[in-house]
Amino acid sequence: MPLTIALDGPVGAGKSTVCDAVAKRLGILHLDTGAMYRAAALKVVREGISPEDAEAVCRLAEKGQIRVSVRYADDRQMTLLDGEDVSALIRTQEIGQAASAISRYPCIRKRMVALQQEIARSESMLLDGRDIGTVVLKDADVKIYLTSSVEVRAQRRLKQLREKGDQTPYEKVLGEVKARDEQDMTRETDPLRQAEDAVLVDSSSLTFDETVEVILDTIRKRHAGKE
Ligand code: C5P
Repeated sequence: MPLTIALDGPVGAGKSTVCDAVAKRLGILHLDTGAMYRAAALKVVREGISPEDAEAVCRLAEKGQIRVSVRYADDRQMTLLDGEDVSALIRTQEIGQAASAISRYPCIRKRMVALQQEIARSESMLLDGRDIGTVVLKDADVKIYLTSSVEVRAQRRLKQLREKGDQTPYEKVLGEVKARDEQDMTRETDPLRQAEDAVLVDSSSLTFDETVEVILDTIRKRHAGKE
């Protein structure tokens, strides 16, 4: 039976990089489900459709024109849109915000959830996202909710922006993180929340390496308890 690990949490909690490291240590694949919503959002933007226009977005989805897929090369996820590798193109603030907007629509979630479940069926995986423990893998072997204070998450985001030469002020970044939390946590369909059986990991005062160790420890304990 493949091992399934569900890790959810808000924007800026460091899910992606932490999960990459954890999956590597466990020798399993990591599926970043946010990247799939981002690729879908890129399609919407490329078509000149407003992410706020639910009808137009769903029309596109229902015509089967949002073709997102995932491939692994050397255990690294490549996120494809219409067969094109868009892994780097989707890492912008604009696409993140558009992904958050379109991920409110059931027509989008239904397809993404089905695709993610299909991918996770094939082999042992660590999935990260917003609804993994509550919707995508309700029966996951281990569930973790990774978070940290909104200020710490904004500071981390600020650091990433500065590294790219972006001088957006802290207050604006903090406002964007808060707005994304609000949108992801209050939407009607599959809002971000901690699954009842998920272990809470607060990384506010942990370094990256410490966070990875705490998560590995949690996985070992939880999984051992089930064997
Ligand atoms: O994790 P990331 O910031 O890349 O995700 C982009 C957006 O996609 C999130 O803000 C969230 O609205 C949406 N998302 C989701 N469900 C997931 C993963 C991401 O709704 N499983």
